[in-house]
Amino acid sequence: SVKAAGKGDYDFFRPELYARLRARFELEQALMQALEQNQFVLHYQPRVDTLSGEMASMEALVRWIHPERGLVSPAEFIPIAENTGLILRLGDMVMEKACAQIAAWKAMQLPELPVSINVSAKQFHAGKLHQKLSDCLRKYNVRADLLEVEITESSMMGEDNAIMEELAAIRALGIKLLVDDFGTGYSSLSQLQRLDMDILKIDRVFTNELDKSAEGKIFFKAIVSMAHALDMTVVAEGVESNAQLALLRELNCDEIQGYFISRPVPAEQIPALMQKLLLLPDDLSSDATLLT
Ligand code: C2E
Ligand code: MG
Ligand code: MG
Ligand code: MG
Repeated sequence: SVKAAGKGDYDFFRPELYARLRARFELEQALMQALEQNQFVLHYQPRVDTLSGEMASMEALVRWIHPERGLVSPAEFIPIAENTGLILRLGDMVMEKACAQIAAWKAMQLPELPVSINVSAKQFHAGKLHQKLSDCLRKYNVRADLLEVEITESSMMGEDNAIMEELAAIRALGIKLLVDDFGTGYSSLSQLQRLDMDILKIDRVFTNELDKSAEGKIFFKAIVSMAHALDMTVVAEGVESNAQLALLRELNCDEIQGYFISRPVPAEQIPALMQKLLLLPDDLSSDATLLT
């Protein structure tokens, strides 16, 4: 019987734990169904030049439009997708949607700006990521320099050959490589340089510290100057205030991203955002709006 199996096993059947396992199982099932029923959309958040405020790129961030729950955050379902292998199908879908969107904006004659996609370590380990990216670019007739790949610092820790080779192959295609959430892992800057990373995105916990402590500012300043010495562009994520922006200008941070500029928005709102952040002539943007 269950009780005879000992205390540990008995604990396993505590109702709260059972409820949690069940909720998680249901979420997995729902995720699988969501992939089949195409319940995902990408939102886009601009990255802008720190000095001019001009839009430099956009980050594609996946959202799940759940039939009952509405918009579900990736923070909730990406970890589950990663643990179940669903991340591979989800990752393919994100890549596909981003390339299709870049092509659609081009067809609308909007200024061509790069889009970055977030890629999980599992996608690197599955192999042939560069092949998938290259096939996807070709399928939608999108130039490689319009796509950027974000990989978190923590997922490229250590001297993992599989990841290093994939990164080199992706970069050889002409796709820019971006280190995401920098400062939360333990990789060294020299390792990042060896991997030929183009852009360093500093995690928002550090942006948050900027105007709170002297150490926060010192840390940021050191990262910016080292990254520049290694020929990397530096981005601050999570910029929420004008005070932070002022400090980032002072510290020579190249680009910023955050609610202070814009939240991530649906693709339909990008033409208007571009007009605001690129000062497009009115006729071009109204043409574009007609097409959405
Ligand atoms: P991330 O790649 O670091 O993306 C930045 C996150 O910070 C986004 O959250 C964005 O909405 C949020 N953010 C941007 N500016 C601000 C700000 O000023 N203040 C605050 N508090 N937050 C800000 P989101 O969209 O919820 O995504 C969370 C994470 O989920 C992402 O972090 C990324 O790791 C993951 N993710 C999102 N889309 C994908 C995807 O397509 N594939 C994979 N593998 N992961 C994804
Ligand atoms: Mg990211
Ligand atoms: Mg990030
Ligand atoms: Mg982050």
